[in-house]
Amino acid sequence: MTYEQYSSRRLAVSGALAERGCDAVLVTAPVNVRYLTGFTGSNGAVLLTRDSVSLATDGRYDEQAQRETGLTPTITRALLRTLVTDARTSGARSLAIERDHVTLAHFEAIADAAEGELTLTPCAGLVENERMRKDETELGCLRRAAAIADAAFTAVKQTVSPGMTERELADALEEAMRRGGADAPAFATIVAAGVNGAEPHHQPTSYALALGDLVTVDMGARVDGYHSDMTRTFAVGPVDDWQRELYGLVDAAQRAGCAAVVAGAGTAEVDAAARAVIENAGHGEHFVHGVGHGVGLQIHESPMLFGASEVVLADGMVVTVEPGIYVPGRGGIRIEDTLIVSADAPEVITRAARGL
Ligand code: ZN
Ligand code: ZN
Repeated sequence: MTYEQYSSRRLAVSGALAERGCDAVLVTAPVNVRYLTGFTGSNGAVLLTRDSVSLATDGRYDEQAQRETGLTPTITRALLRTLVTDARTSGARSLAIERDHVTLAHFEAIADAAEGELTLTPCAGLVENERMRKDETELGCLRRAAAIADAAFTAVKQTVSPGMTERELADALEEAMRRGGADAPAFATIVAAGVNGAEPHHQPTSYALALGDLVTVDMGARVDGYHSDMTRTFAVGPVDDWQRELYGLVDAAQRAGCAAVVAGAGTAEVDAAARAVIENAGHGEHFVHGVGHGVGLQIHESPMLFGASEVVLADGMVVTVEPGIYVPGRGGIRIEDTLIVSADAPEVITRAARGL
């Protein structure tokens, strides 16, 4: 990423700011600070007016902030107070704040520094909406992260045998991703075997894989801040008829969902396409979550793909499609891929082999 790329992102957000009738925005979510400036420290905030940018951080990050952003940061221990005062003295009248990220304590500090001269406007999605469509640099990171997880899954799956615990399998997958070049796992790897598969986000335990179990692995790698996300379900040993039948159903639902991913389609339509396959087979009550989500600097980000979502898919968005069936007391199946949206068929970037 170049300083110019960050600068053009800020320009886009400034444009959105004007549309909402605000003169400036105070960006406090670390992931949004990073998106707009490149700063990766744990304590930073950005004030964006329609034609200027100020970054504030504390003394630990002075050098790092300059190197990463090309900006001269204001070094202070009172980040919000300093930036809000800057906004006020610059003549701004209306300051947008990130309603999804500001704590009550932060809000009190902001309101105090506004001294009644600034109208505070809580806004949702100002930066998140810009983050939905990825540029080529971001797509490169996302493809690399997905390829690392693919390779780790493929290698470690060869070593799975009865007696291995969920935790051992999760550890092996995470170790393989690190060796393969991941900065870290994208999230705590999910391994759910046998009846544990009925919990969509089961955390690995000392349960030992047994012959006849289905194992659901949900994993991803993080590369340069970008995450990958993939789920595969496979069998240990022989497969029962009920397992084969439900697997076929989830597989068909997942393919139907992927086929609905195209620029111009509603996110709710993707959910509906996958869900219809499962509902028509009588398992609607066992598909307990939305069909997918955006992936980028966060593992779960806009757009969310579920029934009530109103976002329309656009070129360059990166989303997952991950229907599942979870039967209490029996087990579960989920298949998840990450796709890059385009006007044609989406590019599927998670490529590890699927199938029982
Ligand atoms: Zn996942
Ligand atoms: Zn996911």
